[in-house]
Amino acid sequence: MKYNVDKNGYYGDFGGAYIPEMLYPNISELKENYLKIISEPKFKKDFNLLLKKYVGRPTPLYFAERLSNKYNTKIYLKREDLCHTGAHKINNTIGQILLAKRLGKNRIIAETGAGQHGVATATVCALMGVKCVIYMGEIDIKRQAPNVARMKMLGAEVKSAKSGSKTLKDATNEAIRDWINNPVDTHYIIGSVVGPHPYPDMVARFQSVISDEIKTQLLNTENRDYPDYLIACVGGGSNAAGLYYNYLENKNVKIIAVEAAGKGISSGESAATSILGKEGIIHGSKTLLMQNKDGQITEPYSISAGLDYPGIGPMHANLYRSKRAEFVSVTDDEAMNWGLTLSQMEGIIPAIETAHAFSVLDTMNFKPSDIIVFNCSGRGDKDLDTYINYFKI
Ligand SMILES: *Cc1c(COP(=O)(O)O)cnc(C)c1O
Repeated sequence: MKYNVDKNGYYGDFGGAYIPEMLYPNISELKENYLKIISEPKFKKDFNLLLKKYVGRPTPLYFAERLSNKYNTKIYLKREDLCHTGAHKINNTIGQILLAKRLGKNRIIAETGAGQHGVATATVCALMGVKCVIYMGEIDIKRQAPNVARMKMLGAEVKSAKSGSKTLKDATNEAIRDWINNPVDTHYIIGSVVGPHPYPDMVARFQSVISDEIKTQLLNTENRDYPDYLIACVGGGSNAAGLYYNYLENKNVKIIAVEAAGKGISSGESAATSILGKEGIIHGSKTLLMQNKDGQITEPYSISAGLDYPGIGPMHANLYRSKRAEFVSVTDDEAMNWGLTLSQMEGIIPAIETAHAFSVLDTMNFKPSDIIVFNCSGRGDKDLDTYINYFKI
């Protein structure tokens, strides 16, 4: 289990729980209970039933024929875009709301940047009849109006984070502050494989249903349960973690992680964390993050709001450092063009985050016999304005 978390919450040099003392009770409660609760048969039954009946799992593993012909290789898409609410994020929020209920919590808080995690959280809170408060940067509230409307429609309270750069990291800081003040009745649903231990491991476990399903699905179509390549975009890293999870120790499987280069790696406007980042601590976790020479976090940029996080999860930092995964970065322009290509070649309009992953088809050489699985992390409805303005359609 070299690439998975150790008992102290580390992935190699990365991870851990670097938290203020006032957060200790909350984190300890989670750390001491999460494995016990999620391995209970009743929990598993409830989780799997909701994934099936509410989220719509298993999602298809779709063989993309036209794309495969064009690139002369075998390309499959894991269709997380078909999940309820339009992305993989709900796999995690379903798991965490069930966990919160087991812990006796009746109030949920969450941070959100693009609003996707906020919507997935507000959705499961409505489902369970639990009070929901979403922290969102003041600037993001303006940029992501449709998702703000969805959260409000679902009954959540959206609180504006007005400090710092007024974006995701500031919303996260506000959520942590709220949790410190409300340790007894509140659970904090983090939206990716980031934050202090046990969050990265807990979120990865909930998302691992993605690669659980792929094993069975590939066995049916290809007579073996593993692909040659797994490819996913990485913001914080949760859809990628779910895709890789059951294959981390299988060296037949090559792992590729795609980050957002924004306007270019050396443009000063990018979110290519592994390449530009240095070791540091963000939101309670030791990982790779973009920072200036004084250790101040630099503002990330990507045209896709879901990828502009200044860090990556500790699992991915370790996959990068150990060279288990190959990291590539893709510019806004490359990703946008792939959004259009996938739409017109397969009839699937991907989220801009997702579109980044496909750019590797232009830069890497695959063999005709290679089996490649892309994680189609989400659908592009939320991004239509951005696409339309970009292409002047
Ligand atoms: C949020 C999001 C991402 C990025 O988050 P990860 O934790 O890296 O998966 C990617 N794709 C979509 C569709 C998203 O909504």
